[in-house]
Amino acid sequence: MESLEAELERARDLDADELADAIESIGFECTRCGGCCTGYAPDDPGGAPAGEGADTGDGEGDREPDREPHTATVFPDEVRAVADAAEAEFGESYDWRDVARPMPFGLSAGDDGEPAGETFEWALATDDCGDCTFYEETDGQGACTVHDARPLICQTYPFSVALDGTSQPMGEAVDAEGVVRAHECEGLGRDISREDAEELAAALKERAVRELEEAIGVRDGYDPTAAERADGDAVVFDSEGPKEADGTPIDGK
Ligand code: SF4
Repeated sequence: MESLEAELERARDLDADELADAIESIGFECTRCGGCCTGYAPDDPGGAPAGEGADTGDGEGDREPDREPHTATVFPDEVRAVADAAEAEFGESYDWRDVARPMPFGLSAGDDGEPAGETFEWALATDDCGDCTFYEETDGQGACTVHDARPLICQTYPFSVALDGTSQPMGEAVDAEGVVRAHECEGLGRDISREDAEELAAALKERAVRELEEAIGVRDGYDPTAAERADGDAVVFDSEGPKEADGTPIDGK
């Protein structure tokens, strides 16, 4: 495996025009099905259709036991941008915890039931149905309430680039063209304009660069003693340093 620095150089050297060619060749149009914004059934890696199994229907909003919560990586600066956008949209204050939760992978349940352990990413917060907090659905049509500030992972789904150290959405790629991978999505294969393909390609390249910068920041800022100074059970290491589960930085030694 290449070093993260070498992969970062490769990401910075990606030719956005070639990425756009690949996206155009694969084809994509968002159908607003909500599959990439909602919880999913374990056998359905690309995400279940909007609303399917999202609520038990008893009015209490419980998530069906066979659905996993939506998990999308969000960078620390994106958490703040989404909070600002949500505050402007809804006229109420949004703190870190309203936007992001510790990425659950690798965490266990502590004595109090709260997550415990160390993790290296933030995931977008989810509601009781396991759907992204910022997802809204009207008559089967999904919408993002923070659309202009949505994270890069949302801007670029269902595409990724095949570089070591970049994240791949759940499940195997279903299509590939050059370094571009396409993941399960009902909008694949549809015509896309050159302008939209170029916009997506630029975001895809930016995401690859940001993911590798973040991975390098996490690696370099890792402090195995941070957990001893944490107030809570879970510690999240992001590129800005160790944080409590509510986003509060854990001070240095
Ligand atoms: S932030 Fe918006 S686009 Fe991203 S998962 Fe949530 S609702 Fe979907």
